[in-house]
Amino acid sequence: MSSEAQKFRKYAHQFVDWMADYMDNVEQYPVKSQVAPREIYEQIEQRIPDEGERIEDIFEDFKKIIIPGITHWQSPNFFAYFQANTSSPSILAEMLMATLGVQGMKWDTSPASTELEERMMEWLRDAMALPADWTGVIQDTASTATLASIITAREQKSNYEVNHKGYTGFTNFRVYCSDQTHSSIEKGVKIVGIGKDNLVKVPTDDIQAMKADLLLASIEKDITDGYHPLCVVAAIGTTGTMAMDPLKRIAEICKKHNIWLHVDAAYAGSALLLPEYQHLIEGIEDADSFVFNPHKWLFTNFDCSAYFVKDKDALVNTFAILPEYLKTKTDGLVANHCDWGIPLGRRFRSLKLWFVLRHYGLKGLQEKLRFHIELTKWLENEIVKSSDFELAVPRSMNLVCFYYKPSKDITIEEQNSLNERLLNQLNGSGEIYLTHTKIDNTYILRMSIGQNNVQHAHISNAWNLIQKTAEGILLN
Ligand SMILES: *Cc1c(COP(=O)(O)O)cnc(C)c1O
Repeated sequence: MSSEAQKFRKYAHQFVDWMADYMDNVEQYPVKSQVAPREIYEQIEQRIPDEGERIEDIFEDFKKIIIPGITHWQSPNFFAYFQANTSSPSILAEMLMATLGVQGMKWDTSPASTELEERMMEWLRDAMALPADWTGVIQDTASTATLASIITAREQKSNYEVNHKGYTGFTNFRVYCSDQTHSSIEKGVKIVGIGKDNLVKVPTDDIQAMKADLLLASIEKDITDGYHPLCVVAAIGTTGTMAMDPLKRIAEICKKHNIWLHVDAAYAGSALLLPEYQHLIEGIEDADSFVFNPHKWLFTNFDCSAYFVKDKDALVNTFAILPEYLKTKTDGLVANHCDWGIPLGRRFRSLKLWFVLRHYGLKGLQEKLRFHIELTKWLENEIVKSSDFELAVPRSMNLVCFYYKPSKDITIEEQNSLNERLLNQLNGSGEIYLTHTKIDNTYILRMSIGQNNVQHAHISNAWNLIQKTAEGILLN
């Protein structure tokens, strides 16, 4: 055995022991990293070391310097933003992926990477009741998938002319989303060169869902004013409050006006594995593209974003490029996924999805998702029963949004300030981690419940801590 492999074996065993201990002990760390800005930076050497160092020493520094600067997304007391779960099958596959170091850009550069990806996308598509004739491809993130979607819409609309000539002759494009849609839409519109002034943010109703009649009115007015409506992005699960845009109605409008419809279900999409939620994408057959992130609520570590399109030729015609050095004998016979999105190089991400989907099975995944939703319902009910807290909007799936309101007589400014202090104190305790958003002028706390190992006790402890901390704040 080579000495390189011998050393690797030794350290890999040690690291795996550390990894397993971490999984067992993750609750002992403060959930949100408590370091100050620059605290980590200042501890890192200023230059590349001249001489190579021992893995033992690097690993010691990892534990000493890096770990305190980690926010523990894998803690069952993590309720912030959204879940970014990993799981043991996913980590095991990631280890194999790292070892193989595959670049899956073309079929030839590793046929298994392309073909397993094709199958995994079919597994997900069919289990989630997406249209059977759609095609899927893995992207790094939902932001990239949405960007790819807007670019494809532009190319299809311009008969692939913008790709050749630039925007000459194709000005005045408009893109539409709700005023609650994720920031990645605005970023995409800026990158594509449409300009954020041409992103129309359609107002939402009292549960934060897009008002479809106002979408229609905007589109019709824009047409009269000489604009070209290009694309609508509908959200199935907004980041702020997990609101669901009325897809069926939006799809009808897009169909009528021949507008590209992209569905952003980055977070909530996982729940489409549950038949009882599949009604949320009624109308999807009239959409053009759909994205959701297995790297959020489907136990597959970052990155892995599943992007599905109705017309795969439109996607490939938009992105395909074939310089001499990338030509292979199989071109035209197989999928070359570098032509299905923005980056050339691609990781072998389908491997971890394969491990995860096989390890849990559809039933295992469904049980987990349903359990997370049940836990969220329990908390919702506690909040409803409490006289000091109120729901900001009705619970949606595994997200509950609420605020502290200990008295009818406080002003909104006082209430917001109480809630901000409550959040800071909770996160500073290291016990749990929540984040906030604002609805109109109200500061609200969000609690997203879906970490892989979360149990009922974590939620009841968190609720007790929230109530106790709130009482303490009122007394001060
Ligand atoms: C998380 C999220 C995104 C962005 O996802 P990335 O994969 O990090 O780009 C977009 N839209 C929604 C609704 C999200 O929840």
